[in-house]
Amino acid sequence: MTAPQRMCAGCRGRADKSSLTRLVWDGASSVLIDERQQLPGRGVYLHPGCVARAVKSKAIGRGLRHNLDGAAVGNVLATLSVG
Ligand SMILES: [Zn+2]
Repeated sequence: MTAPQRMCAGCRGRADKSSLTRLVWDGASSVLIDERQQLPGRGVYLHPGCVARAVKSKAIGRGLRHNLDGAAVGNVLATLSVG
């Protein structure tokens, strides 16, 4: 059995899906942390320590196919206590 792998949008390394944080766009105004990794829609996976890097490089917006403003991602940063 091999655990499912996903690519981290911050460092582009691969890791077990369960070890990554999944972010999804809520369709309205903000990015949600998908703690159970079950929400529908396009998601972005990140190592918890790579979130700040991904914000800087705008990889989250690219991955979610959405032009994110700072506030949308700021919520996530605050929740994850990084950045
Ligand atoms: Zn990473």
